[in-house]
Amino acid sequence: MRIFANPVGAGSLWFDNLATADGTPVAYDPQARAFLPMPPFCANRERIGCNWTAAKEGEFCRSCAMTALAPDPSIANAIPNWAQTEAAKRWVLDNLGRWHWFRPEDPGARPVFHLLAEGPSPVPMGHAAGVVTISVAEVDPVLLTTRREALQEPYRTMIGHMRHEIGHMLWWRLSLREDFLKAFRAMFGDERIDYPAALRYHYENGPPAEWRQLYLTSYASAHPHEDWAETTAHLLHLTDIADSFVATGLSSPEMPDPGWDPYSEPDPERLIHIAATLTVGVNHVNRSMGLADLYPFVLSDYARRKLAFVHSWLRRGALGL
Ligand SMILES: [Zn+2]
Ligand SMILES: [Zn+2]
Repeated sequence: MRIFANPVGAGSLWFDNLATADGTPVAYDPQARAFLPMPPFCANRERIGCNWTAAKEGEFCRSCAMTALAPDPSIANAIPNWAQTEAAKRWVLDNLGRWHWFRPEDPGARPVFHLLAEGPSPVPMGHAAGVVTISVAEVDPVLLTTRREALQEPYRTMIGHMRHEIGHMLWWRLSLREDFLKAFRAMFGDERIDYPAALRYHYENGPPAEWRQLYLTSYASAHPHEDWAETTAHLLHLTDIADSFVATGLSSPEMPDPGWDPYSEPDPERLIHIAATLTVGVNHVNRSMGLADLYPFVLSDYARRKLAFVHSWLRRGALGL
């Protein structure tokens, strides 16, 4: 993620800021990718702290307009959890917008979000025919820690859920193309194999012994759809890590030049190499605070080939190229 100029004074603004350091309200214009001082604010600004602009006063921003179902406000913490969930969604939508997805120049369908609070039973997250369902309860740190332990997914995060589930939606968009489907099946396998049976098998038997050579995560081995979604999430993680690193003004001998834009990089191997190198460094920095690694995943040659495949389709797919 970039760091933005303050439109009314000195200093910088972070992507989630609602105001400058001296308290002047500002909002992020996702089309201009810049902060503005007095635009029409999103209608969700007061309610959930959405800091995006709207086309007109009283309307929702582009991101909030994609939320068809918001959580039941009578459930405890539904509104603050929803606010954090929308913040993760805006972040990922802005990332994908760098490759033109869901912006005005993209002629295809937008994702429809069902962001649901949890009552006594968990909300199953997933994607079906363009609809992304997310449990907003997963921003709760206690519940998230419990699920991380139970599911052995220590890197479960809301931004990761967004990247994974929107990844399924992107597959659904791309699957309208015969050339994509043919290439996808050659790289990831045939997604027409029985999905419920494949997931049941995965949960009963675990991943194949050699999964680390073939997949980014154990869950990716469950089914070609999950392999695609996990690979897409990781491509978005890595590209965003590189983008955020560049935005700080720090440099690395691996990086081409200070103005390098990871989202404009045409060579996936170069992008993945630079991002993977940065993660090794930042993992080491995290250890100096006793924190877990930022990105503890090992990228096998085969996983890198799949990341390159997703990169090529995400870079041109929104424009039908
Ligand atoms: Zn909004
Ligand atoms: Zn999935």
